[in-house]
Amino acid sequence: QAKVAGKNCYRFYSRAMDQAVERRVRMEQELRGAWERGELSLVYQPVVRLSDGKLVGAEALLRWQHPELGMVAPSVFIDVAEQSGLIEVIGPRVLRAACAAAARWGFEDDTLEKPFISVNVSPRQLRSGDLPETVAECLRETGLAPGRLHLELTETAVISDEAHASALLSTLHRAGVKVWLDDFGTGFSGLSHLRRVPVDGVKIDRSFIADMLRDPDDLALTTAIIAMAHSLGITVVAEGVEQEGQLDLLRERGCDLAQGYWLGYPVSAHELNQMAS
Ligand code: C2E
Ligand code: MG
Ligand code: MG
Ligand code: MG
Repeated sequence: QAKVAGKNCYRFYSRAMDQAVERRVRMEQELRGAWERGELSLVYQPVVRLSDGKLVGAEALLRWQHPELGMVAPSVFIDVAEQSGLIEVIGPRVLRAACAAAARWGFEDDTLEKPFISVNVSPRQLRSGDLPETVAECLRETGLAPGRLHLELTETAVISDEAHASALLSTLHRAGVKVWLDDFGTGFSGLSHLRRVPVDGVKIDRSFIADMLRDPDDLALTTAIIAMAHSLGITVVAEGVEQEGQLDLLRERGCDLAQGYWLGYPVSAHELNQMAS
């Protein structure tokens, strides 16, 4: 009896698994030609300085509009791209497109500070080894000043291979590019890593910001990250600011920069240029 149930059970899970695998394979196939078909595009979310409320930069975020699947969430397709290796083709294209867009920003008024562009770099791109070369190429081709490019790496990607990451980040630094740790605080890496890995900034994960007004622990962690980062000369960005109260509290605690729906949704390159000019 148990054997029969077990068998049915197995078949059920097996079918569900097959479907999941099938969906993944299909998505991978679809993603393969997505760039050429013009289904992939970038949007740009404003990053604001808390001391004066000025727009100082933007984060490039990839969007996939599929004719049948509709808008596919980056949390889904970036993972597919990462697992399949497609990210090594898509990543450099994203970098080039983002640099090209940023190179055109804010030139109407020479006295204005030119906004930076922040680009997400996946663990696989970090491991692939040719990142510094790709970055140099993009900067050369687009004419973007290296100091205006920020690369966002996840805490876990950097820590899983600290020696390799350190060397890579040093190379990028020598080229003048800035490096930020994304989703900071979620990786349990401990703050000690920040001494060994050369980073310019940390982006506090939005899960901390979401609860900081209700949960004293999240507020305490956020405050500690700000203080610690500043003592190491590292800039702090708060992610996912959705309420004015969060912004006020972050400003009070000395947080440098912020992004989130309260400050601005991701918009097209053209719209961001109008905001920055
Ligand atoms: P991330 O780098 O942490 O990006 C921030 C995410 O938070 C974005 O989601 C953004 O739209 C969302 N967000 C911004 N403000 C708010 C807010 O106030 N509230 C809430 N609830 N969410 C907010 P998105 O665009 O869906 O991207 C998700 C993740 O996908 C990114 O997380 C990043 O890890 C990855 N991703 C996106 N574009 C790229 C890319 O071009 N390359 C790579 N490698 N990864 C990317
Ligand atoms: Mg990011
Ligand atoms: Mg993040
Ligand atoms: Mg995140």
